[in-house]
Amino acid sequence: MEAVVLRGIQKSYRDDTLTTRALAGVDLSVQAGEFAAIIGPSGSGKSTLLNILGCLDEADEGSYLLFGEEMQGAKERQLGRVRNQVLAFVFQGFNLIPGKSALANVELQLKYRGVPPAQRRQMAQQALEQVGLSHRLHYRPAQLSGGQQQRVAVARAIAARPRLLLADEPTGNLDSASAQEVLCAMEQLRCRGTTIVMITHDPGLAARADRVWVMEDGVLTPASN
Ligand code: ADP
Repeated sequence: MEAVVLRGIQKSYRDDTLTTRALAGVDLSVQAGEFAAIIGPSGSGKSTLLNILGCLDEADEGSYLLFGEEMQGAKERQLGRVRNQVLAFVFQGFNLIPGKSALANVELQLKYRGVPPAQRRQMAQQALEQVGLSHRLHYRPAQLSGGQQQRVAVARAIAARPRLLLADEPTGNLDSASAQEVLCAMEQLRCRGTTIVMITHDPGLAARADRVWVMEDGVLTPASN
């Protein structure tokens, strides 16, 4: 089954004086359970694409099927449901709540997602276990390394078992050992069937994905290997 099918996606940013074409007709297919990486220079359109995949922004033209459901032109209610039940995000900044433990950070996200209190603790523990942090449940962010903090952010994203995880430079501000840690955690998720689309500037990390795509001037092409 295909998790994502994009066809002819175009997107421009306009203000009074300027039009910037960010996506110039993007086609992309990602199979369910696949780990796809997108690399490309700064300004090439990667974040714009991820915002569209995440239903945070809409394309000007084209079609976006997410697990068979058309997102282009979808109503706000449908988009809200999809954002809440299908998608999850990991960004470069961890955005963890400083005063709360790893466990509490993940539990809070589950609360936002409407998971009943009785199930939150167990789901949060399970997610932290999946990213290798069972031994750090009660540590606050400041007591964790950068790699561990980002793994908490990954646990927070996947605790509610999203079908598609979108990661925007998840290792961007980490040293290479921490970046490896985070990537290993994502590989584990992939093994459990989560579909992942990751933007990275690091071709070495991208090479660990099942498939690599290159964005250049708003056009996406498969990486040759
Ligand atoms: P990347 O993530 O690859 O760095 P972006 O998707 O952020 O690239 O940007 C693609 C192009 O769109 C760039 O030329 C950028 O300047 C432009 N752009 C991005 N966001 C906006 C915006 N909100 N308003 C105007 N132009 C934008």
